[in-house]
This record gives sequence, structure tokens and C-alpha cells, in this order.
Amino acid sequence: MQGLSVKVRGTVQGVGFRPFVYQLAEEHRLTGWVRNTSRQVEIELDGSSDALEGFLRGLRERAPPLARIDDVDVEPRPPSGFSSFEIIESQLEEGWQSIPPDTATCDACLDELLDPAERRYGYPFTNCTHCGPRFTIIESLPYDRDRTTMRCFDMCKDCRREYEDPRDRRFHAQPVACPACGPKVWLQAPDGEVAEGDPIEACASLLGSGRVVALKGLGGYQLACDATNPDAVARLRQRKRRYGKPFAVMVPDVEWAKQLCVATEIEVEALESRERPIVLMKRRPEATVAPEVAPGLDTLGVMLPYTPLHHLLLRCFAGPIVMTSGNMSEEPIAIGNREAVERLGEIADAFLFHDRDIYARYDDSVVRVLGDHVVPIRRARGYAPAPVDVPFTAAHDILACGAQQKSTFCLVKESKAFLSQHIGDLENLETLEHFESSLETFRRLLGVEPQVIAHDMHPDYLSTHFAHDFPAPSAVRVVVQHHHAHIVSAMVEHGLEEPVIGVAYDGTGYGTDGAIWGGEILVADWASFERLGHLRYAPMLGGEAAIRKPYRLAAGYIWSLCPGCVREFEPFLATLPIGERIILRRQLETGLNTPLTSSCGRLFDVAAALLGVRREALYEGQPAVELEAIADPAVKEIYPFDIIREGDGWVIDPAALLRALWCEYRAGRPVSYIAAAFHNTVAEFTAGVCRKIRDARGLNRVVLSGGCFQSAFLTRRLLDGLEAAGFEVFTQREVPPNDGGLSLGQAAVAHALTAEMR
Ligand code: ZN
Ligand code: ZN
Ligand code: FE
Repeated sequence: MQGLSVKVRGTVQGVGFRPFVYQLAEEHRLTGWVRNTSRQVEIELDGSSDALEGFLRGLRERAPPLARIDDVDVEPRPPSGFSSFEIIESQLEEGWQSIPPDTATCDACLDELLDPAERRYGYPFTNCTHCGPRFTIIESLPYDRDRTTMRCFDMCKDCRREYEDPRDRRFHAQPVACPACGPKVWLQAPDGEVAEGDPIEACASLLGSGRVVALKGLGGYQLACDATNPDAVARLRQRKRRYGKPFAVMVPDVEWAKQLCVATEIEVEALESRERPIVLMKRRPEATVAPEVAPGLDTLGVMLPYTPLHHLLLRCFAGPIVMTSGNMSEEPIAIGNREAVERLGEIADAFLFHDRDIYARYDDSVVRVLGDHVVPIRRARGYAPAPVDVPFTAAHDILACGAQQKSTFCLVKESKAFLSQHIGDLENLETLEHFESSLETFRRLLGVEPQVIAHDMHPDYLSTHFAHDFPAPSAVRVVVQHHHAHIVSAMVEHGLEEPVIGVAYDGTGYGTDGAIWGGEILVADWASFERLGHLRYAPMLGGEAAIRKPYRLAAGYIWSLCPGCVREFEPFLATLPIGERIILRRQLETGLNTPLTSSCGRLFDVAAALLGVRREALYEGQPAVELEAIADPAVKEIYPFDIIREGDGWVIDPAALLRALWCEYRAGRPVSYIAAAFHNTVAEFTAGVCRKIRDARGLNRVVLSGGCFQSAFLTRRLLDGLEAAGFEVFTQREVPPNDGGLSLGQAAVAHALTAEMR
């Protein structure tokens, strides 16, 4: 007989870990107890050494699906003389631990949901220890029902029995509920009138008649309408004031997804994963969804039902439903019932309410296959707040405040980076409040007191102001250049510490010289970087506003990059209203409100404008995604360009590229051909600069990051080019390549610069 004290750290609460331990202990005839504390799961055991060994093996090998074990601490001791094995009361203490993300309905729960013999038949809040809400309902730790928004529902006798039976799938499942005791769903008109009959059937029939319904989901309200009905989709766009940006659709099952899209194996796997993200896939030309769902794009964002409520609704509706976040464009997702009526009352014809409160706002995640990997484009539901392992141990708690668009923050504790869920563009008070309250939640759950605060170099970002105003006067502030942060974000994911060649292509980032960078090739490690390559500066006539008017950008690029051949572009320039042309010329000459930019995103805007693909943009990045959508992958041609030596580095001059593109267009070459050749050329000059840097510096590792690498076409072509040249290439996998992943890089830079600090 021997005794053993075991401490398990990781994501081990809210995932059925204690019942698993209980069953494992019984199996090995061990006595003792298990309990949750604020920082870990603690286990005390008595038994034979064989049995203890078997237990420890099982602990690692058979842990429940949602558990993530980081660390097991085992200490032998004399036996304590326990007579049985028990689960004992949780203990509050100092400490922190990972919080599980919400997870899609498991198969066992789905079977119950659809089985008329089960007491949870048709019950939209069915869940168990392997599935259901977590992060969205946890107010504090340790994870127990009275510290979740389920606390106001008293369990009935049957639920209590399951909850207390260690052999039951619902043993200590905190959100456990049933029709007798749990949350309820009802359908209500904006004027407060509650619909009679089955609310889900009634909701499906409203959708069928072209109405817009706001339904309370897992992490906030969603706006839904019939995806095959062009009028309904157009109405939703109008009311939500979301023009142009694609909507995602939810489909009943994988077969439906395959009917709408060409789904590859890896995409199907992503669709069916327990994170259940929106997967961006190639749309079939014959897909029955209305064109208004994703205008101008060849892709469609599709997801499968991930809560019982969604499963029931989709079964009832039996077709694709537009499912978009419940907000007015640019605002955060609504979570409260009263808030929903106030904010969505003008948008929705009806509300599918329920009475389980949502504690944390949590948007649907979006992923896309880039290169050979499923990469998050928006990292929220299902992924956050699961930590990213970082290859360092932070000496101090670090807070990185992210950028402006697609905002996330990152908290680093020891060797875990907790990236927040996607928060949105920090451009209004509502989103800033979402940022602040999410940070509050993370700090409380993780017990973080930031001593190091990292922020972007841009003086006007709200996240920069937030970092300065954060009430921690003794905390060290670290300024991180935008593209350096992008590259380090990808380096950290791959455990790269030594200097690499970093290609950071995006729309906008504040440079050390005050210009707007975005077509940058750096040599970087965590602490520092050198800018060895960039796109030639060109004027952004009218500043940020030019992002919405690519044709103005194009005029500025022509005048400044191609002064010798402006006449060739005259047919394009002639399309500018004469008054506007005069104003733009003057801006160019005086430099008034005309920052210089090396942005790769803007180069795509200019190409799209010249090709008539998109002269005016409804959202940033629209020209680039539309250019990608029409590009013919069979085309291998590359247009000319120049790489010019300047100081220690190289400047990429795209003048010859723009001229070739324009000449081809004028000559009647199909736009699908030119768009592809344009992408190929960007990949080609990038690989060219990388080769020059390799020759000069002896570096063979290339890291790709930045919003431009959301393009599957560009990523593929550049990967192929670099790999053919013998480079080892690394792309983002766990966090988005866009600014949503930036805070991770900021945190690592801040760590590198302050690790020695005491
Ligand atoms: Zn389940
Ligand atoms: Zn019950
Ligand atoms: Fe960026």
C-alpha cells in the first residue's frame, strides 16, 4: 500500500475531469479523493503501486475529449487510510487556470435531442460534460454552477441525480438542464407579443416567409434569414446597414455544405470539428443561395449547427440560413434580451429569446484553408480563450493591447498566451467597452496584474490610448512596430527565436518613419528588426478615406510611380470627374492629407481599380478579395517589376507591373488572366527580395504574416515560389495572419525587451 498526491494543471475544469478521475480510480480500486481548486485539480490516492501506475498512465492517455493537460505533478507519500474514493468540495485559493471554450453539441447529446423516448427530446439546452457552453457562462473560478449564469436555475430531481452520479455523462456538468427545470425558449414580436405554439417551428416558418429573426445564440444574438431568398437577404443588409461584406450561412448538415461548396477533406474536417467554425470554401456556381449573400465572391462561409437550438431550427427549416452577428454594422454583438430589443428592434421582425444569460460576448469563428492548413481568420467561439503555448516563460504578467482593426488583446502568464476572442474594430465606444469588459473578465479569471503593457506604435489607435491610460502606473509600456509584431506572432507559434526573413503584407501599419507601412520584408527576431525590403512609397491621396476610393489611390500611384508614362494611363485618368482630378493633383503636389504608403493591400486596391473590378470599396479588403475571386489559377504568367538596391536593403518598384497590367487590360486580355498574373508577380518579387536577403545575410527561414495572407491564392503562389527556391517557410496556424493575431506578437516582443527587467 502506497499514497500519492497528484496535481493536474491545464484545461481540466468544466470538461468532465473529476468524473473521469473518479472512474479511473474505481477501475484501479484506489481510494482517496479529487477536487477542483482555483488553479488545478488535486487528487489524493491510496493503493498498490501497480494500481497507482495504471492510474497515472490512464490519466494521460484517456483524458476526456475537452481536457488539455499541461502539467502533472506527482508526489509519493505514506498511505492516508482512505476507505473510499470521493469527489470533494472545490477550494478557492490564489491561482489561475485555463478556461475551456464553448463546444459544439456532442453526438450523445444530439441523439438524445432527436429521440422521442428521451426526456430531453427537442430540448434546446441539452448539454453534458463533453459539450455545451463554458466561457460564455463562467463568471469566476473554480468552475461551479453557482459561479455561472446557470445559478438561477434550480435543478430538478432527475437532473440532480445525473449531476451527482459519477457514472453519468452529466456528472458535475454545470450547465445541466432539462425541460422541467432549465432555460426556456420563446418567440416574441418586437412589440412584446409572444407567439403561440412551438417557438422553433414558428421561427422556421417566419424565416420561410422571408422574415428576419434575431435569435439568441451561444455568445450573443444572431440575425437569421432564408439564405435562398434574395429579398430577405437584401432586407437584412439594408436594415443592418451592412453593404457588401459577405454573410455566413448555417446549413443542416455536411451534405448541404457539399451541395453549396466544393468542400475538400480538410474543410469537411474543419466543418465537423467540435469548434464548428465558419469555413470559407469555394462556392459551387449552381449553389442555391442568393447572390446577395456573398456578392462578388467565389467563396462562401458555411457552418454547421453547434447548439441544440441550431440543430432543431435547421432541421425544421431544412435549408441554408444566413446567420450573422446580431448587431448594427461595426458594433459588437448584442447579448442581453433587453439590449437586443433596443439594438435590433429595427432589424428583426421577431426575436427567438431564451432565459439563460450570456456572460461573455463570443462571435462565430471563421477559418480558411491557407497553404495546407486550416487557419483562423477570426478566432472566437470554440477557440478562445484556450491559450496558445509560447516558447518562453514570462517573468512578468504581460498585457498586449493589439491594433485597431479586428482587435484582440493578449495576456501572457508564465508560458501561456491567452488571446482574447475577436472583439472587432476599435472604432467606436461600444467596441471599446467590449474590449474593456472582456479584458476585465480575462483578468479576473486568470488573476493577471499586468506589469508590462505592449501597444502599437500608432499614436491614434484607441488601443494605444488604452495602454497609456491603463491604471497600472508602475507597469512598463513597450511600443511595438506593427509589422514586427505580425512577424513575431508567427515566429512564436513555430517556436522560432533566431532571426528570420519576415514578409509582412497588410493594409496599414504605422512605420518608424511615420509613413504607412504594409509591404514590408524584415529581418527580425523577437527584440528587434531591420527593414530590408519594402514596396516603393506611393501617395495615399486623401489619407485613410482613399481606402474606400481605390480609383483615387490608382491616380496617385500612376502620377507618382509612373511619371514617364502617365499618358498611357490617360483613358483611366479620364474616368475621374474633372473637379476631383484637379483636387487630387493639388493634394499630390502639396502633400496635404496625403501620407506615403508602402502597403501591399493598397497595391491590390490599385490593381482592382485599374482593372475595373472595384473602383469604390464598401469595406477594406473588398478589392483584394474580388481580385482573388476572379483570378484564374491556371495562369502562370509573371509581369515585369524592378527591385532596386537602396542603402542596406531593397525597394520593390511596381511601376512596370502596373503598366503591364494596364496595357494587357487595354489590349483586351481577360481580367481573370491579368488578376492571376498580378498575384503571381507579387509572389515573384517577394521571393526575389527574400533571395537577395538570403544571399546577404545567410538566412533561409521565411515567415509570412499580415492580412494579405488571408488570400489563399497569394499564399499558395508565394509558398510555391519560396519552397522551390529552397526556403523553409512558416505561416500562421493558431492565430489569424491579420491584425487579430497581432497582440500575440506584441506580447512576445514585450517579453524579449523586458525579460531582464526586475
Ligand atoms: Zn454532450
Ligand atoms: Zn431538470
Ligand atoms: Fe496589420
